[in-house]
Amino acid sequence: MNWRDLAACRFEDPELFFPIGEDGPSLRQIEQARAVCHGCPVVTACGDWALRSDEYDGVWGAMTAGERRAFRHRREA
Ligand code: SF4
Repeated sequence: MNWRDLAACRFEDPELFFPIGEDGPSLRQIEQARAVCHGCPVVTACGDWALRSDEYDGVWGAMTAGERRAFRHRREA
């Protein structure tokens, strides 16, 4: 079984996880997406996958694209 089969977001509108930015009005959308992630049984697998895949956009594993970039930069430093 693939971790995606257990994703809590599989019944959500995918648009929720792809805010147009990471500030202003997008903050509310990000928090709504993050709330789904925080109840997701595969949040760790999802976040790991997004980091390994250099996923450019969207909320994955409760992390925004900017948070993933910052995480990668810290890890590489
Ligand atoms: S952690 Fe979030 S984006 Fe990843 S599968 Fe779960 S609900 Fe979906």
